[in-house]
Amino acid sequence: MADRDDYRPVKQQPLSETSPLKGLRARYLIAFGLIATLSVVAFLGLGYLVLQSEKWTSTLSGAELQRMVSQRIAKAAERDSRGEIAREVVVFERMQHAIRYGDPALGVQGLTGSAFEPLFIELNGTYSELTKTARAIAETPGDEAVADGLLESLREQERAYLTGMNNLILQIRSTTRAEFKRLELLHLVVLALTLATLVFELAFVFEPAARRIKLQWQKLQESEQRFNLAVRGSQNAIWDWDLTSGKFYYSPMWAILLHDERLLDETTPDAWFRLVTSNELNKLNDQLEQLKTGVTDVMSTEIEMCTPCGDRVSVLCRGTSVRDASGEVVRLAGSLADITEQRRVREKLREMAEQDALTGLVNRGYFQERIELQVLRTRRDAQGTYAVLFFDFDGFKAVNDALGHNVGDELLISIARRLEEMTPTPGVVSRLGGDEFAVLVPGIGPEDATRLAGRLVERFREPHKLGTHEVVSTSSIGLVIGDQEYTDADALLRDADTAMYAAKVGGKSQYCVFDESMRRDSMRRLRIETGLLNADFDKELSLAFQPIVDLESGARERVEVLLRWPGFGEEPVRPDVFIPIAEETGVIIELGEWVLIEAAKRLQEWDARLGHTRTSVHINISRRQLLHPRFVEQLESLRTRHPGVYERLVLEVPEAAIMDRRSNPIDRLREIREAGYKLTLDNFGTGHSSLSCLHQFSLHAIKIDRSFVMEIEHRREFAALYHAIVTLSQNLGLTTIAMGVETRGQLGQLQGIGCSLGQGYLFARPMDAENTLRFLAGETEMFEAA
Ligand code: C2E
Ligand code: CA
Repeated sequence: MADRDDYRPVKQQPLSETSPLKGLRARYLIAFGLIATLSVVAFLGLGYLVLQSEKWTSTLSGAELQRMVSQRIAKAAERDSRGEIAREVVVFERMQHAIRYGDPALGVQGLTGSAFEPLFIELNGTYSELTKTARAIAETPGDEAVADGLLESLREQERAYLTGMNNLILQIRSTTRAEFKRLELLHLVVLALTLATLVFELAFVFEPAARRIKLQWQKLQESEQRFNLAVRGSQNAIWDWDLTSGKFYYSPMWAILLHDERLLDETTPDAWFRLVTSNELNKLNDQLEQLKTGVTDVMSTEIEMCTPCGDRVSVLCRGTSVRDASGEVVRLAGSLADITEQRRVREKLREMAEQDALTGLVNRGYFQERIELQVLRTRRDAQGTYAVLFFDFDGFKAVNDALGHNVGDELLISIARRLEEMTPTPGVVSRLGGDEFAVLVPGIGPEDATRLAGRLVERFREPHKLGTHEVVSTSSIGLVIGDQEYTDADALLRDADTAMYAAKVGGKSQYCVFDESMRRDSMRRLRIETGLLNADFDKELSLAFQPIVDLESGARERVEVLLRWPGFGEEPVRPDVFIPIAEETGVIIELGEWVLIEAAKRLQEWDARLGHTRTSVHINISRRQLLHPRFVEQLESLRTRHPGVYERLVLEVPEAAIMDRRSNPIDRLREIREAGYKLTLDNFGTGHSSLSCLHQFSLHAIKIDRSFVMEIEHRREFAALYHAIVTLSQNLGLTTIAMGVETRGQLGQLQGIGCSLGQGYLFARPMDAENTLRFLAGETEMFEAA
């Protein structure tokens, strides 16, 4: 994957889109507009009222006109023009009507209902008289002179009317002027109040609010900036999904995380879902659905995504929901954190915790978990069996020692590959440690499992090609068929191990199916192991002695020391059972030293009681004892402590130990000889030694295995073979000792062959020290046990 730090998005989102002041200003502008409109309306209303009052002026001019008409009537009467009077009276009446009731055609307001109406009613009296007089004049026939009295009355009435009309006009003029002034004042007050309100609003409401909002706005911006920095610092990609509008927001980090800048132009979550790997999509959708439906308020899940270039990115997706006042989920928001590296490390750690580093197979811990799971399943489902195979590979240590650890490692890897290739799916192959491997095969029956074990044994008989070497490492396999009886992995592995041990002891390169007797044996073995580890040798162990006699002279001068352990109160545990266990556990080192010391002490005692020093004591030495670094030291200390007897202590070394090429015991045998001890090869004929190479071991004698003696009586070829062995040994200067002589016939044959010494039930069975002493002293019969 490309280095993400090198990648920078082109786009950066602005911190915020609009300032809230903008809205506030708009609201205030509307408020100002309203106030201004109101003041204009008020202004217009007042203007209208003023205009209204100006209408009084039209009435006023009507009145003035009327005044003129009355004058014209008077003048027409002066001239004695009756027609003119009649016309003027009509105009006069009309004007009078117009002034009283108003006349739009003349533009006169009319006084009805006004404050001036009483004045006008007063004037009406004069008007009636004037019109009456004028009509009277107008109706006077044309040839008669108008009566002076009528003219005089008309003049007076006209003067009275004029005076009344003048009063009315004056009254109207002064009233409307006062009215106008009041209105003007009112107008000014309204204007002043409007202005004052505006100034007050501006100074005490708008400005403080604006200042507050500006401050809050700055704080918001700062916090948004801080938030953005934190988000950028955390390297998290932020998402925000408005469920009402369906709009989805991708923060710039998305482009960095997923190497896809186009995401920033996207407004739906589909672009995200497209990048989630198909097998993880359901998991993500489930989680989002739970948030949407309100089942949970927070989510956190790991998902794998794929960039457009095909790189895999693991992310931790966190999210939360936002509800509206009614409690409905309206918005989801969250983040994606890149955990690719953590996941890789985690995987690695898990692998390390579960895997064997060398072979890549699962390790013991994980294998046990798998068996545990299988045990649970089998018990729960109450059906089906499974198999556990436990492997031990013969000769692995030899390969390690002879060819080095690298080749040893290669061998282990080759074994692992073979096991994997042979194990049917869904089997699990594990390296438990060292050269121990195990396989679990679920759902397999006993027949198929044994067939598989057989095939595996065969396969491991084939050599492994390791570089330039070809190595054979056969396998001993323990097989357990798991059923509902098993309740834990430990029991299964223990039984498989027991079966493997049985396969190994039974001759290697074979498999053994576990059965109950093996469990009993292994329990017994365990008891012996712990019994020996905790044993107080002086109190619990004892020595038995079996004589070795001269076949020709019958001299009784040798005994073999045989260890005895009563065990746990039942039957004594036989030495060929507990000695190999003592060897495996390492107790033999201490135990062998104890036998050496006890034997030396016993010989010293016998010397004293027999009165001669011709007796020799044969002591069995195990392979592990022989090769132990402290063995020669033990012998030297024994020599110092028992200087009179050590030369007559003969060490019987098993053939298998001498022929062990890997440990190369030649030097060790030489050291023993140099320390003054004699060496005898025990159980000759059971191993692969050939007489021709025996001379290099500086031996004193060979003990020919019991299996040969058993046959010489009946099978000629064995007698011939025995004869050859004895002759050759004597030629090499070795004393021959026949083991397991039980019959006189065998004795006769051995004597005929010329074998020097013999040991067996015919002469004496192993016995305690007192009886041995009596035997050595010649106080008991020879063949009494036979
Ligand atoms: P081994 O060295 O072959 O000892 C001889 C075994 O043959 C003895 O068995 C003895 O009782 C048995 N035996 C002797 N004559 C006859 C016979 O005529 N017929 C038959 N059937 N058996 C006969 P034992 O005492 O049970 O010892 C078994 C093995 O235990 C010994 O085999 C020896 O390898 C080992 N062992 C005994 N004591 C010691 C000891 O102190 N140290 C070590 N390292 N091994 C010991
Ligand atoms: Ca022996």
